[in-house]
Amino acid sequence: MNAEIIAIGSELLLGETIDTNSAYLARHLAAIGINLFRKTVVGDNEERIASVISEALDRADLLICTGGLGPTIDDMTRESIARATGRPLEFHQHLLDQIEARFRSFGRTMSPSNRQQAFVPQGARIVENPRGTAPSFIVEDVRGTVVVLPGVPSEMRYLWENAIMPYLRNERGQTGVILVRTIHATGLGESVIGEMLADLMLAENPTLGISAKRAQYELRIGAKADDPAVAEALADAAEATIRE
Ligand code: ATP
Ligand code: MG
Repeated sequence: MNAEIIAIGSELLLGETIDTNSAYLARHLAAIGINLFRKTVVGDNEERIASVISEALDRADLLICTGGLGPTIDDMTRESIARATGRPLEFHQHLLDQIEARFRSFGRTMSPSNRQQAFVPQGARIVENPRGTAPSFIVEDVRGTVVVLPGVPSEMRYLWENAIMPYLRNERGQTGVILVRTIHATGLGESVIGEMLADLMLAENPTLGISAKRAQYELRIGAKADDPAVAEALADAAEATIRE
């Protein structure tokens, strides 16, 4: 399964908020063996969000989107996904009841604008969000699967761990792991290390990448396998060659 991440919110483009959600999702996709090929950040604009989603659906099997599920007019993720997948938004009374109950439990009254959070694209699978008001959802479209998570980092992480990861493992048969192991090197220049390890850097599994960190180099091995023990063995072999 090949994935892309789409982080939605103008605050991310303005540099006001750092997109930590994408980094979290990237690590967790690797942990369950899903290849991640791109990450996109897009502002709060319905047309641009819809086109980013549509383009990504032409390339990837799985899109993970975060942000823009709130109740205000600049929260346009629902509409954009409806548009990109050609599915009208449908109202769900039980979602509105849940949102209302959540406000009541805080001793507050729900605003009329929260009603829009009870709409999801037709045929979407609803993922209830006990940590916030915005329900999340999954659209299994012919072009690929779109998973939509809230932008609030704690809510996003909660739903990833408790709903999305179990869905990918149990219902989509996603097995495996991409194990990432980092070795530190110092004393030789980056170009010298790169030349010595060129053959490993061209290999597909495990992969090897180098990044410079001050006077040190991080040699990053990425080993992919269905069985974590096999990934460990692949990484062990690459590590032994590098040390040699
Ligand atoms: P809610 O479910 O609470 O309505 P939402 O889905 O509408 O949330 P946003 O309004 O887009 O989410 O963002 C809510 C908060 O989460 C903001 O403080 C925002 O800065 C933060 N946030 C949004 N996206 C990201 C991201 N990619 N990385 C880190 N923080 C983010
Ligand atoms: Mg937002």
